[in-house]
Amino acid sequence: MAKNIPTKIYLSEEELPRQWYNLRADMKEQHDPFLHPGTLAPIKLEELCGIFIEELSKQELNFTDRYIDIPESVCNFYRMIRPSPLIRAYFLEKILGTPAEIYYKFEGTNTSGSHKLNSAIAQAYYAKEQGLNSITTETGAGQWGTALAMACSFYGLDVDIFMVKGSADQKPDRLEVMKTYGASVTPSPSNKTEIGKRIQQEKPGTTGSLGCAISEAIEVCASRESCKYVLGSVLDYVLLHQSIIGIELKTACEKYDIKPDIIIGCAGGGSNLGGLIGPYMGDKIRGKNNIKFIAVEPKSCPSFTRGKYAYDFGDTGKITPLLKMYTLGNGFIPSPIHAGGLRYHGMSPILSKLYHDGYLEAVAVGQKSVFDAASMFSKCEGILPAPESSHAIKIAIDEALKCKESGEKKTIIFGLTGTGYFDMSAYRMYNAGKMEDTELSDEDLQKGFSSIPDIPQNR
Ligand SMILES: *Cc1c(COP(=O)(O)O)cnc(C)c1O
Repeated sequence: MAKNIPTKIYLSEEELPRQWYNLRADMKEQHDPFLHPGTLAPIKLEELCGIFIEELSKQELNFTDRYIDIPESVCNFYRMIRPSPLIRAYFLEKILGTPAEIYYKFEGTNTSGSHKLNSAIAQAYYAKEQGLNSITTETGAGQWGTALAMACSFYGLDVDIFMVKGSADQKPDRLEVMKTYGASVTPSPSNKTEIGKRIQQEKPGTTGSLGCAISEAIEVCASRESCKYVLGSVLDYVLLHQSIIGIELKTACEKYDIKPDIIIGCAGGGSNLGGLIGPYMGDKIRGKNNIKFIAVEPKSCPSFTRGKYAYDFGDTGKITPLLKMYTLGNGFIPSPIHAGGLRYHGMSPILSKLYHDGYLEAVAVGQKSVFDAASMFSKCEGILPAPESSHAIKIAIDEALKCKESGEKKTIIFGLTGTGYFDMSAYRMYNAGKMEDTELSDEDLQKGFSSIPDIPQNR
């Protein structure tokens, strides 16, 4: 019998995780290794350390330690912003008239407004530990940049952020928050880098892309002493840090005898989803549950559902290591949809492998239906959701409605990754009835695919 379940489940400070969970240690097969872009050989630790922070590079290559200690200082910071609540969506259930139980793990309670701070604080910590002076990064929608700006100001590090131009234009206030925390922010593509200049020449008037902003951030980093480049999603070490979401979730569920049937998350680069489902996925791999895991992506950037499983660069400038992942091609530039955090061409190699092996499902949804879901959710649950998060809401609602039809009393959990306060231009369009779904043609896709490198491993 399920216990009486409060609307908001908070863990106590003592129950906060002191270790991250490394899902790779439980995977039956590992994803294919990162390749050096020059030699096409599996990348070595020393090579990774050339661009990335040393400790993070080690975490990136670690597929043996199931648990990794969270540094004391990071634990202390987590105490300030965590635990995040697991909320029973009683009102949403009621309005849907579903027998399903719906819960969401809400990561939007900190100033950055998303889960990104979970990894940002760890990355800034390791940068400081390594004695670096500065780090560079890219940001799409701006949540990652904000989180990293906060983390860097906490540890006294300089940070240079390249923000996708289309997004910077849409969200000038986001940019200002980053500056308030002392970050230097440049809309990308910019004239600060060779690659930025080149991309502007090739695609005049471009609104930019994450892949392009990454290239700029890496170029600036390479030109500096004591500087490294950091990334807010996709990489294995980011999923490792985000596992804090899933560990808290599982602890809370076990405390109240909640047994999930379906766990849903939006997927941009895969970090929140990977973190959210991590511990339960580990159990599934070991045959201990049969939970259905669903990744939700936008129809205009459908890496899982229409992408290729291939080695590709993480960036448009083709300078990162090659990652085996579901990808639309590093040259793919999605239409400037309103869920900026879901516009990346690739996908986490861990999640790509799990999807490929059938442990994870994926669906793509149009942004109009996503905002319908966001609007319904905001009215009954009292939280104005980020457009990214609303992709998960949309599918949670769909699954709950299926239960209504079949009479099944499933337990549905989704990740509510953040709040939408800086997405007012999106909500404004929606409210004015002007939100549009752009169709992505096979021709558009082909253009992106043609940028996937033609290497022996892809043939
Ligand atoms: C960045 C972001 C996402 C998508 O990134 P993932 O790495 O796929 O988690 C989703 N929601 C919000 C609020 C974000 O900021």
